Amino acid sequence: MCRELSPFTGWRDKFQELQVLAGYTSGVMKENLKMKIVILGAGVAGVSTAILLKQRGMDVHVYERRTAVTNIGAGIVIWPNAAWVLDQMGILPAMQAASGQPQKMQRWSQTGEDLGAINIQTINQEIGYASLAILRSDFQNIMMDRMTALDIPIHYHHAASSISTTDDGKAVVQFLDGRQIDAGIIIGADGRMASCARRFVCGDNTPVYQGFINWVGVCENMDLQFDPVTIADYWGVGERFGIVPVNQHLAYWAAGRASASISQDRHAAHSVAHSADLASFMQDWPQVVSTIIRATPDSRINKIFVHDHHPTTTWHRQNVLMIGDAAHASLPTSGQGACQALEDAWHLAESLAKHDGDLEQTFSQFTALRFAKTTGITMAGRGLASSIFNMDPQFCAGRNDQSKTTDYHAVALAMANGWSQHLPKAA
Ligand SMILES: Cc1cc2nc3c(=O)[nH]c(=O)nc-3n(C[C@H](O)[C@H](O)[C@H](O)COP(=O)(O)OP(=O)(O)OC[C@H]3O[C@@H](n4cnc5c(N)ncnc54)[C@H](O)[C@@H]3O)c2cc1C
Repeated sequence: MCRELSPFTGWRDKFQELQVLAGYTSGVMKENLKMKIVILGAGVAGVSTAILLKQRGMDVHVYERRTAVTNIGAGIVIWPNAAWVLDQMGILPAMQAASGQPQKMQRWSQTGEDLGAINIQTINQEIGYASLAILRSDFQNIMMDRMTALDIPIHYHHAASSISTTDDGKAVVQFLDGRQIDAGIIIGADGRMASCARRFVCGDNTPVYQGFINWVGVCENMDLQFDPVTIADYWGVGERFGIVPVNQHLAYWAAGRASASISQDRHAAHSVAHSADLASFMQDWPQVVSTIIRATPDSRINKIFVHDHHPTTTWHRQNVLMIGDAAHASLPTSGQGACQALEDAWHLAESLAKHDGDLEQTFSQFTALRFAKTTGITMAGRGLASSIFNMDPQFCAGRNDQSKTTDYHAVALAMANGWSQHLPKAA
């Protein structure tokens, strides 16, 4: 049912086509805004959407399969485009208080050669907000505090199993335990791995394994001293190690390694400790890498087989819309997954208010607007991943040489230009 673009070609044409379609007005369902809006999933996309809709007076309810908010994952960089959205949500000061403020991203080879640096301050100045590095647990806690302050109901232990629609225009969510609810609007923010919303909208929700594993960890140690303003990014052959400081004694990190097959490695994942998995990173890499791994307890390391989704031009069906990773999961190499989930939330709240509950208009224009930007980000994430996780030593040597001569000022300006698209300029 979804118009999936894979292998990915011609997305600009598809976008233009969508923009034409977005001019179409169905004129139905204007009553929906007064009705209950159900959001599936209490991740970044679901919670931020709930907050921004509630701030506009809409009746939102969040349903989450887990029994509480979890602290899975390590940290995120909130780039200035997303900081702008957090400002609209009224939680930017709290986020700033819990975050580090990175000023540069320094690239190194595995052997410690300087491969150049992106000046993050350039991006910040261009967009008008500071970039923030924050632990996921802190990020989630601040978002949940805002949910509580706005009195938004969140129903834990509700794992959606399917979505359907009734003849009178309602959407119905069926939960695994047999309960069901109906709503005027369902917003599927149920992530990348098995989204019910994507299955309803597209007929298929299978994510695409992109051939690499990430181990993400949080290291807090008073004996270690991190440079609090520098993100370090080490590139090897088919491997990568990144360190993001939050303060002098606290950092999160990600180790990445190419792995063609999930199944072989998945077997190993359950039988060895993470530190054993990461042994190669402790031998042939700069000392800081082994130090940070050794200083991180196994309980604070997660292993992830990294998937994304092929971009699709179809994000809604009747009164069900998918957002966040369910609609446009991108690889961690894009650096923008959570940031784009936040942007979705703001644009959706704007569109719903602007079109006064006309869902066809709202969802079509929202999709048209968001498709181009998120698709560019998905493809940029794939491009960087295919270079970083390349297994050919000759290719990697050439890539590193090229990095040394890259005009990183131009790169920073291009990043700022792309990431600020479709957002009002900061004052
Ligand atoms: C290894 C890794 C590192 C990353 N690092 C960064 C980074 O540094 N910066 C960044 O911007 N992005 C990063 N990302 C991407 C980012 O994590 C996601 O893009 C972001 O979390 C998307 O938010 P979401 O709300 O759409 O999905 P999620 O955060 O996955 O939330 C989905 C929610 O839906 C719930 N759910 C799922 N199924 C159901 C169901 N059937 N019923 C009810 N609830 C359900 C889940 O429990 C979850 O709470 C990274 C991703 C990976 C894999």
